[in-house]
Amino acid sequence: MNVCIFAFKMEMNRMKKELDIITFDADDTLWENELFFRENEHCFCELIKEYADQNQVLESLLKNEIKTLPIYGYGIKGFVLSMIETALELSNNKISGNTIKEILELGKKQLSYPVKLIDGVEDTLSALQKDYTLVMATKGDLTDQERKIEESGLKKYFSHIEIMSEKNESGYRSLIDRLQVSPDKFLMVGNSLKSDIIPVLSIGGYAAHIPFYTTWEHEKVDKPETCDRMFSLKSIRELLSII
Ligand SMILES: [Mg+2]
Repeated sequence: MNVCIFAFKMEMNRMKKELDIITFDADDTLWENELFFRENEHCFCELIKEYADQNQVLESLLKNEIKTLPIYGYGIKGFVLSMIETALELSNNKISGNTIKEILELGKKQLSYPVKLIDGVEDTLSALQKDYTLVMATKGDLTDQERKIEESGLKKYFSHIEIMSEKNESGYRSLIDRLQVSPDKFLMVGNSLKSDIIPVLSIGGYAAHIPFYTTWEHEKVDKPETCDRMFSLKSIRELLSII
């Protein structure tokens, strides 16, 4: 057994004994989300194709989304405003009122999509709830996240739900302080290495990464080298076999 696998197994056994709280990301961990952004990006490219090709549109849109994150925060409303800003920029302010209206309609439609749970979520939460305190920690637009939480029917499994403005080290430190748990009793489960895994490993917690098939460019980062407190899973159901 190599040193890395040995350390991993030691940590897995230690986690099994000490784990107290399991925290779940929501978007693309419990329910589908990112694919709706990809679909709307495609519609947006079609709407303004007379001004720029798809690559130019996507590049400008991403740049505007990242630039405005500190003022708009995460979520669909910021995405819509960034699409409008991109359309104005690429058309040299010539975009029509009708096209802006269509962009707003894309956003409104996305804000009312039904919540579709990812396979295995409800069974897994139901099984884990018997032995652990379950928490949901998500980021995004407050109103939209509250709608999805309500519609998902998953509220009953969670002792605490946190809608964070940024999932970074300080955000997770505040969360575990509020939960009155030490990092070595805390496991975070999520699809984003950048938001769910790396900051939690950095503060000494455990993390289980379950990739979703599409990831926003801004969330893409290299996999961390640490291997002993991080679990890579293919499905949420695999959680039941590691804890
Ligand atoms: Mg997510």
